[in-house]
Amino acid sequence: MIDLLGGEAASQHECSRSGCRHGAGWAILWRNPKIHAADRRKTWLACDEHRAYLQDFLEARSFPLEVLPLSELLARTSPEEHLS
Ligand SMILES: [Zn+2]
Repeated sequence: MIDLLGGEAASQHECSRSGCRHGAGWAILWRNPKIHAADRRKTWLACDEHRAYLQDFLEARSFPLEVLPLSELLARTSPEEHLS
């Protein structure tokens, strides 16, 4: 699966896990209810290897989150918005 992500698009969307340089195939939208407004979303990108790690990290803190394929995120938002 990771081999399929090795192209140009992958280099523009790296996994958010610190130290990981893999192309991301997943987007995790989340927020911290204590500091983020209800309509605010943070976006982390994840490779196949780290999607579960990042998801567990957020779930352990009881943060609301949504996981979706990166392609779906890109379809929803403009390229300028999704990494803000
Ligand atoms: Zn990764």
